[in-house]
Amino acid sequence: MTKYVFVTGGVVSSIGKGVLAASLGLLLESRGLRIAMMKFDPYINVDPGTMNPFEHGEVFVTDDGAETDLDLGHYERFTKCPLSQKSNVTTGGIYNAVIQKERRGEYLGKTVQVIPHITDEIKSRIRMLTADSEEPIDVAIIEIGGTVGDIESLPFLEALRQFRLEVGPPQCCFVHVTLVPYIEAAGELKTKPTQHSVRALRDIGIQANVIVCRTGKQRLDDDQRRKIAMFCNVTDDAIIGAEDISPLYAIPLNFHRQGLDVTVLKLLAMDIPGIDLTEWTAMVDRFANRNEEVRIAAVGKYIDHDDAYKSINEAFIHAGIANGCKVNLSWVDAERMENGGSPKDLLSEFDGVLVGPGFGSRGVEGKIRAVQYAREQKVPFFGICLGMQVACIELARNLAGLSGAHSTEMDPETPYPVISLLSEQKGIKDLGGTMRLGAYRCDLKEHTRASEAYGDAFIYERHRHRYEFNNEFLEQLAGEAKMVVSGTHPKGDHELVEIIELADHPWFCASQFHPEFKSTPLSPQPLFREFVHAALLARRKRG
Ligand code: GLN
Repeated sequence: MTKYVFVTGGVVSSIGKGVLAASLGLLLESRGLRIAMMKFDPYINVDPGTMNPFEHGEVFVTDDGAETDLDLGHYERFTKCPLSQKSNVTTGGIYNAVIQKERRGEYLGKTVQVIPHITDEIKSRIRMLTADSEEPIDVAIIEIGGTVGDIESLPFLEALRQFRLEVGPPQCCFVHVTLVPYIEAAGELKTKPTQHSVRALRDIGIQANVIVCRTGKQRLDDDQRRKIAMFCNVTDDAIIGAEDISPLYAIPLNFHRQGLDVTVLKLLAMDIPGIDLTEWTAMVDRFANRNEEVRIAAVGKYIDHDDAYKSINEAFIHAGIANGCKVNLSWVDAERMENGGSPKDLLSEFDGVLVGPGFGSRGVEGKIRAVQYAREQKVPFFGICLGMQVACIELARNLAGLSGAHSTEMDPETPYPVISLLSEQKGIKDLGGTMRLGAYRCDLKEHTRASEAYGDAFIYERHRHRYEFNNEFLEQLAGEAKMVVSGTHPKGDHELVEIIELADHPWFCASQFHPEFKSTPLSPQPLFREFVHAALLARRKRG
């Protein structure tokens, strides 16, 4: 029977609940257990697909096309557990389902209420997570977004309280991640906020079984550990210190040293001796031993939120590990390149140029100039999604003589719509859930950079976009611009362009899909890996 670990957060948000859940997943998998992971998010959006990544962080896309919270990216990078539509459920999703059932008359005339109807729906989602998995799941790890004490979290916590009562204590345990702040003036770590948040949980009938204390730069000592344990009603070994650790991928090793996995398994009455972390430890060692460095310019909108491109940042770390180098990614504001800044001034210090995903027309002309610079100066270039579209526009305008070529997203009246909507997309008015989403097959053309990178005849990569390359311009771009289409998705009687590249260039490659979503530290994404390799060669050449 599946056991459950619920991960809650206390005091403040953004203290690493997602990374804790992912780390625990890795540690349990490394003991040979089969796990499932999911996250509840207490906001009313039905999914995060319509939320602004510059405020909320990136939208992470799963194979089956779910638009999810970025924490799910951590789950996939740390574990092998497959994620799906079932893995991220919001308050909006729960209410949506309950209201639809009410409209269909499924509640048989009853008054529909938070308890029991909303809480029942939440519990059913927990059960659905593991219900039809091919092999039995040993442990399901379920993270509750938000912080204990928030109004929005209450129905979820109430549902968990009921769930625990239904399945019984050794079937589930609660891990509470909390902040233990260091107060400069007193020169010590303060445990009071943690005591309060553990008590707030207890007030709603949940006893935290393991308390993970985020302590910033400080390390939790034994006295503090004992004190928190006593006040929070748990044994000393259930207090786990979480000081700031770099790199991110070393965090699970720190939790393992403190016995997080052993304590959780004991609480779940599971006896699983032996753990194999050799592959993971070797990867963390390779990270520590990177001795070269490349500088990549990411040309895009100005961002001050690192999480907006979380998976891209991580994929570059993975590619760096594979190439034994540190990847220094700097954001270069595309609008500066439009407003007089010359690409040469802004880009000449870099070993590679990335144009990443994006929506809307801000900065697009600057991105096109960045592509032109990289192409003409033979600087390694990588385009992702909008980055591929912009590369096609640049080739069309500057090599195929199609002046004014554009995407109909930015210029609906363009004389040469090299990027446009597919006819079946044209009537769609809703913004949520209406893009090409999730994994699609991509056939690779032999003897191209793409097929060399992947070493396969076909691959599956994930999408999140509305617009596509317009095949009406294929001949012109292949002829005059020498654009090579190295990856295509077979779609009935035609093919969609998925990867383009240039042969007469050190490395110029762009994909319509988002390769970053499938990159993991143990299995770096091939296009990122080869782009960084090309940048490294460029770096060495420059001396
Ligand atoms: N805006 C473009 C489209 O919708 C690209 C999207 C993206 O880069 N994810 O097709």
